[in-house]
Amino acid sequence: MSLVNLLDFDLDGLAAYCESLGEKRFRATQLFRWIHQKGAADFGAMTDLAKSLRDKLAGVAEVRPLTVATEQASTDGTIKWLFDVGGGNAIEAVFIPEDDRGTLCVSSQAGCAVGCRFCSTGHQGFSRNLSTGEILAQLWYAEHHLRQRLNLAPGERAITNVVMMGMGEPLQNYSALVPALKAMLDDHGYGLSRRRVTVSTSGVVPMMDRLREDCPVALAVSLHAPNDALRDELVPLNRKYPLAELLAACRRYLETAPRDFITFEYCMLDGVNDGDDHARELLALVNGRGDRHVSCKLNLIPFNPFPESGLHCSPRARVLAFAKILQDAGIVTTVRKTRGDDIDAACGQLAGEVKDRTRAAERMKRLPVRIVSAPAEPRQKPH
Ligand code: SAH
Ligand code: SF4
Repeated sequence: MSLVNLLDFDLDGLAAYCESLGEKRFRATQLFRWIHQKGAADFGAMTDLAKSLRDKLAGVAEVRPLTVATEQASTDGTIKWLFDVGGGNAIEAVFIPEDDRGTLCVSSQAGCAVGCRFCSTGHQGFSRNLSTGEILAQLWYAEHHLRQRLNLAPGERAITNVVMMGMGEPLQNYSALVPALKAMLDDHGYGLSRRRVTVSTSGVVPMMDRLREDCPVALAVSLHAPNDALRDELVPLNRKYPLAELLAACRRYLETAPRDFITFEYCMLDGVNDGDDHARELLALVNGRGDRHVSCKLNLIPFNPFPESGLHCSPRARVLAFAKILQDAGIVTTVRKTRGDDIDAACGQLAGEVKDRTRAAERMKRLPVRIVSAPAEPRQKPH
């Protein structure tokens, strides 16, 4: 009989499991604190649990870590772990330290079925969803490993922010995602604020609606294009949930969101989506009057190229000119710093290793490069 992985539960789930063993809820709370706050995996070490419970757990349950395949540390402090999740699949998590915070970028799937043109994960195709335990194990490992490595004082945390921006589309793995988010937020777990846990989505509209009911956290939406024709090409999910529906879902999300804005991510692709006209079209899209307005911040991501994409990053001057049009119109627009570049840990470079069960990579190779080009404009030399 395989052991039950206790990382698969949020606190309510663990309470239900403990109840099935004839244990009261406060025992589950103690156990949850041992696992997530102290990083314990050995029931024998959980000294304030009754010996009888410790013995019982040892026979039926475990705290199942992921196997670390490799660890790479960048010169800028970024650390990338490759975790082996079995069956020829590997996923990645990235720690990004900054002065006032530590962010962990977490994966939700082995591969991704959305198949965005500019994304290395998308090019690899989809293998499988991660379980709640596999999502949480990335945070569990990183937090407790880093506390030791960085020699943190008791009670000090290594990770203050989580972004679901690793491999995979989190809202296509909804049932595993939500308990993982709840454990991140739980005061008996990681105690992260809702504003510091961000789900990034390419726009799975029905699940955006469910998330705001079930577990409202900060939301980032990967926009990448200001009109449906171009977005259909870059983010194929747009054919199912076009921009008007996506923006309406953003407005609904804002009614209960912990932050009063949505972060729109926009990957800057040379000659594809980076023209002044695109910036103005984007402005019109989010800055409409009355109920067409979406309160947002815009995060421009310099494209991280990979050979199979056939795409290039916009020149720096183009990115800044694009940003200025939006800033001048009052939209808070930032250009994302690329971190961990030397270890391929930047956005969209997370490739892991994926057994492509959907043959997406092959389909992608056959795709004609049919991207609508930007309005004619003199192009600067790439930086
Ligand atoms: N599937 C989710 C979350 C993971 S991708 C989503 O798409 O939102 C996290 C972010 O990295 C997304 O905004 C995605 O568009 C961006 N991204 C993907 N490939 C990239 C690349 N090659 N260069 C820069 N950003 C990229
Ligand atoms: Fe999937 Fe996000 Fe990559 Fe698109 S950008 S293929 S949704 S991981």
